[in-house]
Amino acid sequence: MTYTITHECVGCSVCMRVCPVDAITGKPKERHRIVPEICIDCGACGRICPYISIKNPEGRVCERIRIRSRWPKPVFDYQRCMGCTICVEACPTACIDLKADRGTRETIRYPVLKNGRNCIGCAFCMLECPVDAVEMDQPTG
Ligand code: SF4
Ligand code: SF4
Ligand code: SF4
Repeated sequence: MTYTITHECVGCSVCMRVCPVDAITGKPKERHRIVPEICIDCGACGRICPYISIKNPEGRVCERIRIRSRWPKPVFDYQRCMGCTICVEACPTACIDLKADRGTRETIRYPVLKNGRNCIGCAFCMLECPVDAVEMDQPTG
């Protein structure tokens, strides 16, 4: 089971524009549909839908976070991070960059959020990190 669109959908297509893998189809003003074989369960559509008409894989209606700058964002703990780059590979919107740190004998590259506006708050970076060096923070400002 993946994310699904309910009968409340008015076909505004906002979800189509945010989906990073083009998993949503539909004509304007008609109920849209999520293609389960393509959906990666990132939940971005549920956070953005103005009509609260998307359900998560558990069947619960997704909570809209109206102001996109308040979507959860990763915070990296550089004491724990070992520069493995798994978070970079896990990110569906390619918004994590690597920053070289030449302060140590070996050059290790650390992740940074390079374009927070493209982050969809999916938390895949946190979930995939093998050393729990990523936390999701929900900005309040
Ligand atoms: S954003 Fe919501 S209302 Fe608009 S097309 Fe998508 S599911 Fe339907
Ligand atoms: S959960 Fe993510 S991948 Fe699936 S349809 Fe929504 S935006 Fe697209
Ligand atoms: S939460 Fe992490 S994986 Fe998801 S889009 Fe933002 S930086 Fe990328």
